Amino acid sequence: MKQLTVWRKRIAAALEWSAVDKGLILMAVAIPLYLQYLCWSLYVINRPDRDLLVHVDVIRRVMEVELLLIAVGLMISGAGLFLRKRRPNFLPFQHATLQYYSLSLVLMSYSIGTLSFPVGIVLLGAPIFGFILLDRWAVWSAVLSSVVLLFTLNYAAVAGYIPYAPSKVTPASAHAFSFWMLSEVFFAAPFLILITFMADQMLTWWRAREDHIRVLSRSDGLTGLANRRHIFSEANAAASASRDSSPLACVLLDLDHFKRVNDSHGHATGDRVLKATAECLTAMVRAGDSVGRYGGEEFLIILPNTDATEAHAIAERCRAAIKALIVVNDQGEPVAISASFGLTLLSSSDGSMDAAIARADEALYQAKGNGRNRVEILLASSGTVPSDAFSKNRR
Ligand code: GH3
Ligand code: MG
Ligand code: MG
Repeated sequence: MKQLTVWRKRIAAALEWSAVDKGLILMAVAIPLYLQYLCWSLYVINRPDRDLLVHVDVIRRVMEVELLLIAVGLMISGAGLFLRKRRPNFLPFQHATLQYYSLSLVLMSYSIGTLSFPVGIVLLGAPIFGFILLDRWAVWSAVLSSVVLLFTLNYAAVAGYIPYAPSKVTPASAHAFSFWMLSEVFFAAPFLILITFMADQMLTWWRAREDHIRVLSRSDGLTGLANRRHIFSEANAAASASRDSSPLACVLLDLDHFKRVNDSHGHATGDRVLKATAECLTAMVRAGDSVGRYGGEEFLIILPNTDATEAHAIAERCRAAIKALIVVNDQGEPVAISASFGLTLLSSSDGSMDAAIARADEALYQAKGNGRNRVEILLASSGTVPSDAFSKNRR
């Protein structure tokens, strides 16, 4: 069971296989397929009613072709196994396997009729599957050469140069008709099962990978918070949603004397402080708020539907919580942490969120100048508001 899961994951991750391994997948599909056809041929020529169903002499020739295709397939696979460790990204191998696969299938389809159910399934399924998994140009050239061969065979049959479906005796009875119908299903079944199974596995894996990449592209590697790009887009989205109807607060904070933390306790301790600060801020804000890492030791908090009084209370709570954080250095000694905060509200005179963030930065600069470990407010119209004005909201 565990082994099965490992294989399922491997198949699903086939998108990341090397060019040679992908070519080998094709061979692993093609060789059993020709073995299956060979078994069918052996079966049909041993039926007592064979002359009512097939032209036995043609089937014998087809069997020779099938044996030849299996031998060539094994030789190509041998070359692939030789290349797989030495030159795993040798693209011509993928071209060769694709040409072998598609041209031999068209050739095989000729004996039972190029306009049949299995050919339709392969014509539709193989390129879709190929474009997901394989090199685009290798698939295009295989599609092109097999379509040319297919049309040539069709044209030659229509023009009377060669017979159409030479191994087939035109069904004269319901019995012969159902034999051929079942045979066509038998030829098409492996494709239907394989294409459906592989497409499901790969697309599931693809979707999971997309989700993972989306999360990675949005988050900061160290703290797991929204990264600078993402917090900006969250800020802009919040600004468009709130414009003129509800207040939007923007808080920028910067750890105090963080260079000293790094210098005296080492970078690893500095990183722990950043992570602890990120966790602390995430825990302090409300569900609809956003926190992001704006720069090295600077964080941006966006508070939708929040007026200055409420935002000041939240910033003040964050300030007190950071001050109370206990992070130890490599020797187990506690490190003193504090942060300065600049707070502003988005104003109708702000052209964009950038203007509000710049004002929050200015307020933060004032908080640094006024002694650090404090919250400073700067509103668009009124200039700096003394933080004492909000002191009743301190918790
Ligand atoms: P101030 O109180 O004025 O903000 O002083 P400061 O020392 O915090 O400011 P400064 O901008 O001089 O230093 C910021 C430091 O943050 C410098 C840089 O090495 C450190 N830093 C930035 N990103 C990281 C990080 O990812 N990990 C660690 N450990 N340190 C970082
Ligand atoms: Mg700093
Ligand atoms: Mg800084």
